[in-house]
Amino acid sequence: MKVLTSIADWQNYRSVLKEGPLGFVPTMGALHEGHLSLVKASRQQDALTIVSVFINPTQFDDKNDFEKYPADSHSDIEQLERAGVDVVLFPDKEQIYKDDYRFKVTESDFSRQLCGAHRPGHFDGVLTVVMRLLNLVRPDNAYFGEKDYQQLQLISDMVSAFFMPVNIVACATMREADGLAMSSRNKHLDVGNRAKAAALFAALKNSGTAAEARQTLAEQGFDVDYVEDLANRRLAAARLGSTRLIDNVEI
Ligand code: AMP
Repeated sequence: MKVLTSIADWQNYRSVLKEGPLGFVPTMGALHEGHLSLVKASRQQDALTIVSVFINPTQFDDKNDFEKYPADSHSDIEQLERAGVDVVLFPDKEQIYKDDYRFKVTESDFSRQLCGAHRPGHFDGVLTVVMRLLNLVRPDNAYFGEKDYQQLQLISDMVSAFFMPVNIVACATMREADGLAMSSRNKHLDVGNRAKAAALFAALKNSGTAAEARQTLAEQGFDVDYVEDLANRRLAAARLGSTRLIDNVEI
């Protein structure tokens, strides 16, 4: 596996690639089985799989959340190597944002709802970094998790709106044995909140309505940002202590 930190080195490598298709899995690191399921999907479909690890500062609306976001590049490299990844790219913010974030992608409707209503600027940051990474990597297929359902929808819509030559592949949410959606932020849950956390998935799945799910969660000690039904999905974000959890299920 090639481990690159320089965008210029990646561009040199990319410019001589002949073998296709190229698969790309963008991540913020602190990798777990959810991320590895995206890698697996790419390995099944693509001749080469590249993963990026970049904790994108522009998508954090909360400085504290950014500063304590988990990072473990040693473990990430080990897991990606074992998973058969060809290239991992660890760019830094000076390379990704050499314009100082003067240029950004803004969506003006759906990005203001759900998570966007509670995290101002979050999806501008997400869409901008994904646009930059897709232009840099130029993959045939790019893999995103349904766990971040609103993000997946917005990225699909952006790729379509800008005629970007990439196929977006949606991958199912990977869960812990008790149903909790895997997430890098789960590391922040203390023992008590970890035991409670699976109630989020259970409430979404088992409640008759979004309002009922919201009430159940509040009764169980969650500080609920939203629970909403949208087309055939029920989506929610709720906090346990200072950890914000999101999840969604098909209804
Ligand atoms: P992140 O590192 O949290 O930015 O996530 C990188 C990618 O992995 C995104 O496309 C996420 O939707 C996806 N992902 C994160 N957690 C899971 C999960 N539990 N199951 C499936 N995909 C996931």
